Amino acid sequence: MTILYLFDIDGTILRSGGAGNRGLNQVFKQKFGVSDAMTGYMAGGKTDPLIVNELVQRHLDRDATALEIQEVIAAYLPLLKIELANSPEFKIMDWAIECIDWLEKRDDAFLCLATGNMRQAAKHKLDVISLWRKFADGGFADDSGDRRELVKAGKARGLALFPDCRQTVIVGDTPRDIDAARAADSLVIAVTTGSFTRDELLSADYVIDSLRELPEIHRALVG
Ligand SMILES: [Mg+2]
Repeated sequence: MTILYLFDIDGTILRSGGAGNRGLNQVFKQKFGVSDAMTGYMAGGKTDPLIVNELVQRHLDRDATALEIQEVIAAYLPLLKIELANSPEFKIMDWAIECIDWLEKRDDAFLCLATGNMRQAAKHKLDVISLWRKFADGGFADDSGDRRELVKAGKARGLALFPDCRQTVIVGDTPRDIDAARAADSLVIAVTTGSFTRDELLSADYVIDSLRELPEIHRALVG
């Protein structure tokens, strides 16, 4: 059996060390005069457009307009790239590179993304560790601000590229990844390297403490 993997990025493959937060803080300061907009805000599992809307709600007590979301994201993307280049706390999750290399070498696994990042933000983050080119395509926040919809879009793109895949597996670190996997009729491996505990991720098909455990699951799935 051949499996399509859709990987989340933040908390699953890497931690940007606050680069995204710093970029959004700068945009909110410039555009809305709000300082430290991200302080105390939990972004885990949320899409970039949803994060922008929730920050506007939180600080301005109203919804963001579609144009504001577009403008904030357009201003954020180049700042993210700059902040990533200057992010001492940037961290690659344990065994993430090895796991992706291991899957890439197999002929019964194909790699795509399913991330709440905009496509360009995902590229900026993965380019730091030269992993962007390992993923054929994916679902991104450009597809939808609703994680369920972007995961469905990523799955559809992956299956169009790799029609032999009989199973789709989402790999993520939050209950939102699990919810979206269910909506996309996919299996889900949850990894506890993000900000959620094993107990909070128990509804996943598999809960692992690092990507080191993924090859064993893959072998069991392909039989
Ligand atoms: Mg994540």
